[in-house]
Amino acid sequence: MQFEFYVPSRIIFGEGSLAELGKRELPGKKALLVTSSGSSAKKSGAFDKVFGILSGKGVEVVSFCKIGANPDLDTVNEGARCARENCCDFVVALGGGSVMDASKAIALAAPNGENYWDFVAAGTGGGKPIKSKPLPLVAITTTAGTGSEADATAVVTNPATNEKIGFVHPGMFPVLSVVDSSLTLGVPPQLTAFQGFDALFHATECYVSNKANKMSDMLALTSMEYASKYLARAVSDGSDAEARDGMSFANMLSGMVMTLSGCTSKHGMEHAMSAHSPKLAHGAGLIMLAPAYYEHMISVHACDERFIKMARAIGAENAGEPADFVEALKKLMQKCGVSNLKMSDYGISPEDFSTLAKNAMSSMKRVFLNDRVPMSVDDVISIYQNSYK
Ligand SMILES: [Zn+2]
Repeated sequence: MQFEFYVPSRIIFGEGSLAELGKRELPGKKALLVTSSGSSAKKSGAFDKVFGILSGKGVEVVSFCKIGANPDLDTVNEGARCARENCCDFVVALGGGSVMDASKAIALAAPNGENYWDFVAAGTGGGKPIKSKPLPLVAITTTAGTGSEADATAVVTNPATNEKIGFVHPGMFPVLSVVDSSLTLGVPPQLTAFQGFDALFHATECYVSNKANKMSDMLALTSMEYASKYLARAVSDGSDAEARDGMSFANMLSGMVMTLSGCTSKHGMEHAMSAHSPKLAHGAGLIMLAPAYYEHMISVHACDERFIKMARAIGAENAGEPADFVEALKKLMQKCGVSNLKMSDYGISPEDFSTLAKNAMSSMKRVFLNDRVPMSVDDVISIYQNSYK
């Protein structure tokens, strides 16, 4: 049970910790400040706050407010060009997982070349060597989902090939991450649920993964405990500061877990879905798949004891069999109002399942290798079928 723990990000955690940004040394003089096209950070005032803090420290700021959900390759390449043309020497990501992931890709591409896809070493990506160090990244998270502030993965979609690939490079770890749960207070209930379940599933998948180890287990179980304790509260009352803080913690741990272990095929299956239907939120796709996915893993006895431990971690204290995990999970979904999400509402139909399965298994091959019991194409298709509503 060997492991290697490498999370070289300085993480400042806690309600109100954004104020700390002004007291810390920043990694450059000219920042590309990246945020979403929906400008939720602008509406909440966080954008002005960060802009003010950076300017107050004498940093010149170029803003790039174009990132959408499931960030795409063109936007990433445009951001990298913007950083290059303006000679930005670091990147500040202000937003949720999409913004942080796109910012990592921008930071990597800016000093290396025109096209980020040339460097992606998976699917149709070019796998070219990354000769220059990515620009340093400061990540300020405004949501509790993806754990992207504590890992080195960038998930970017290439619409031309319908691939949504999570690419990992150690140079994409943020040098500084600010996890201030007060920035998440305004996230609407449904989005809070989608993001919270994404964090929870990073922990559950990393716990059942064949890469799990003592260290990842510790982080994963704690992440699950916090998510199951606080998610429904954060969904039902967004202003519940304690619940928001608990979810920010669960989320940060779920990011760290991914650096030690690895997500399993459920993430690959979901990426194929949201690459096919970009309006589908990542967390929502995972929620749709989860019950059938875990029922399958339990039916092949992938790791019975681990399922019992996960059931206990998410609130079924007296759990005695693996299936108790799925029951506890369904209960949590109901409490959070997300138990009736339908693929058909996002234009996914059963005729797509074979294409989705092939896409998932090629573009996200990496996560399929983490399954304790390897999945066949037929297994993947039948999980899609059993999840279909
Ligand atoms: Zn995820």
